[in-house]
Amino acid sequence: MLRPLIVGNWKMNNTIHQSVELVMKLREFVKTERDTDIIIAPPFTALHHVGFLIADTPIRLAAQNMHHEKTGAFTGDLSGEMLKDVGCEYVILGHSERRKCHCETDETVNRKLKAAIRDELKPIVCVGESLEQREAGDAIRTIKAQVKGSLKGLGPGMVKNMAIAYEPVWAIGTGKTASPTEAEEIHNTIRELLFELFGRNATENIRIIYGGSVTPENIDSLMAQANIDGVLVGGASLKADSFARIISFKESI
Ligand code: PEP
Repeated sequence: MLRPLIVGNWKMNNTIHQSVELVMKLREFVKTERDTDIIIAPPFTALHHVGFLIADTPIRLAAQNMHHEKTGAFTGDLSGEMLKDVGCEYVILGHSERRKCHCETDETVNRKLKAAIRDELKPIVCVGESLEQREAGDAIRTIKAQVKGSLKGLGPGMVKNMAIAYEPVWAIGTGKTASPTEAEEIHNTIRELLFELFGRNATENIRIIYGGSVTPENIDSLMAQANIDGVLVGGASLKADSFARIISFKESI
């Protein structure tokens, strides 16, 4: 099994004050190094304060998005260098909410992914099918196209720090979770596709994580799947005790 990767995506929640409160509680649960990578992605405004408060813990910082250019006239955007400057080690790219609300395409995600690699951020690339695509029996084809499009032009030497998040759109924030076997089927497909695109050596350590209504109740059955190497958690990462239960999944397997 690969070292698990658990990411809490706070989305557009929490002021600086609320972020500090949440992270102070989280610190109590994650005092010492574990054999799991634990990442939190607060809103941009809280990155600095949160980064300061987790500096002496094993928790690491992610941004929820970035721009692909290094600098320039891009009002409201942030570059990879700026994110590193504020303490981010990871960046989430192509989340379905950005694809939907900000018209991000595989091409956009591809540009950002190349920029993240250039700027030495660890990218977490999100893919996922809609309910219509799943019901039409088109989930696997959709996911393969998204992975190929988002990773286009990369070489085997470029992908080693990347993670892929499979997040079925119909499961995000809806309380509906893909069953462990549904998720496992897609994760296995992504794994095989990565082998095909970049070779086994370059990709066997890439973590493929699941996102979509992950909770303390379903984490153990998801993590018991062979190809689920972690989770991307939205709603349940906003409460310290539920996120703590999720990152402690092993203790109850
Ligand atoms: C997410 O933010 O990527 C997500 C999966 O959200 P939720 O866990 O709330 O479904």
